[in-house]
Parts: sequence; C-alpha cells; structure tokens
Amino acid sequence: MFPQASLITGVALGSAPHISHALAAGSAGMAPSKPSFPVADYHVHLSNTLTIDQALQLGKDRGVQIGIVEHPGPGYPINTDADLQHYIDTLRKYPVRIGLQPVYAGWSKSFSKPVLDQLDYILMDALTLPKPDGGWLAIWQIDTMVDDAEEFMTRYMQFIEQVLTTEPINIFAWPTFLPVPIARQYAQLWTPQRVDHIIDLARARKIAIEINELAHVPDENFITRAKRAALKFTFGTDSRNDHAAHFYYCYQMAQKCGLTEGDMLVVNRQPSPR
Ligand SMILES: [Zn+2]
Repeated sequence: MFPQASLITGVALGSAPHISHALAAGSAGMAPSKPSFPVADYHVHLSNTLTIDQALQLGKDRGVQIGIVEHPGPGYPINTDADLQHYIDTLRKYPVRIGLQPVYAGWSKSFSKPVLDQLDYILMDALTLPKPDGGWLAIWQIDTMVDDAEEFMTRYMQFIEQVLTTEPINIFAWPTFLPVPIARQYAQLWTPQRVDHIIDLARARKIAIEINELAHVPDENFITRAKRAALKFTFGTDSRNDHAAHFYYCYQMAQKCGLTEGDMLVVNRQPSPR
C-alpha cells in the first residue's frame, strides 16, 4: 500500500508470536511449495523500482498471474475519470489484471460508473481510520498510539464494518492487521465474535479475503473459519519491487489450511467498452 509499509510492518510484525514462528520455519529451509492451483498476486504496485515489464517478468519466472493496483484520491495520481481511464488504457495492453486500491472511505464518489466498471477488481483495507475530530489515523504507521486496546478494537471494528458494508470492493486487504503497540495481543483481541462478524459481512457481499504476504495476516485460525464459511481468498504481496509474485506466508497458509482451487477468487478481465 504505502512506500514505507514494507519496513514498518516488518518491524511491527517481527514481534508477533505467529510471525516469529513462520520466520523460524523459513530460516530452517522448509519453504512451503507452490500450490497446485493457478496462483495470482493481486496486490502489486508499480513504482520507480518496479516497471510493468519487470512485474510481468517476475510473474512469468514465478508462475504467478499479476494484478496491478494504484491508489486513487488526494495525494495520489488518480483523481478524475480521465486519470482512471488513462490508467486502465495504459495497462490494458499488458496481460495483467487491473485493480484499484482506494484508501479513504467514500473515494468512489469521484468517479463515474462506466469508468469504474472497466476495472477488473477493487481491493481495499481498513487501515486508514477516520478520526472523530476529522482527519485520519493510519494504523500501519509505526508510531500509531493505542491507549486502550478494547476501545481501539471497537473503533476498528466499526470502520471494518463500514468498509465491508458500504464500499464497492471485491477484496478485503490486510484483514485483522493490528498496529504495533497491540500486535502481540492478536490472539486475544481477535475474538471468535469479531472474526465471525468480519466473515459474515464479507460473505454477505461476496468480498474475498486477502492473505497478505507482507503483514502475515490473517492468521491460520481466521483463514480456516473463513474457508468453512465458503469465502474466497486472494494472495497479495503488496510489493513495489522484486518481491512481487514471491510468496512464502501465503503458500504456507494455503498448505496449512488446505486451500484448493475452489477457495480462490479468480479475477477476470473486464470486456472493453464499445
Ligand atoms: Zn497496497
């Protein structure tokens, strides 16, 4: 999502118990094998360090379909229908899926339906919480303060509910990510009630769950419950460099949770408008 995210979440999640475990397994050389079903990375950002040609090559080398996302909204390059149309037309020449990763709630009002409908998919996280007094709290930032974990969770759940019930999205990204100060309390804070509420909301609107390679979320328990509820999944690296299409955590979760081809969301190309 954001340029600093790689560094920040690496620090944030290195301390979480389930992550340390995953990293330990990695260093022991037990890399999980690629699943037998077709794999896609639907969370790739083009950047100064990743051109479209490089992304395609990485996908080819690693046997992974590529989906590109860009952020719309203030501070980002896509703010009008014309911007969005240009973005879509530019990428349409390549064998990639074309996605959008909005950050701010209500973003879709800036665009008209015929242009939005040309996107192959829309992926959104719930990491940019509106503050009661205006402004935003970006909980992926390392200096995010959490005074009261339960109070934070109540507010976070409200925003997740808003995203899952009102935003026109296909994929819920970074599910269950927690800010640094409370990352260690993952197992306690993600109660069965909270987990099931997210799953119910996603199921009601057929929103797929991203398994996020960078943040190592959601955990095995969430994925297992979501699979039981017949939700679909996607894999995403949230990369802007040669980490695109490189999966470790996602393959490990696929293996542990027994994900099959039928559990995965397949994003199709939208037909070109006439
Ligand atoms: Zn992203």
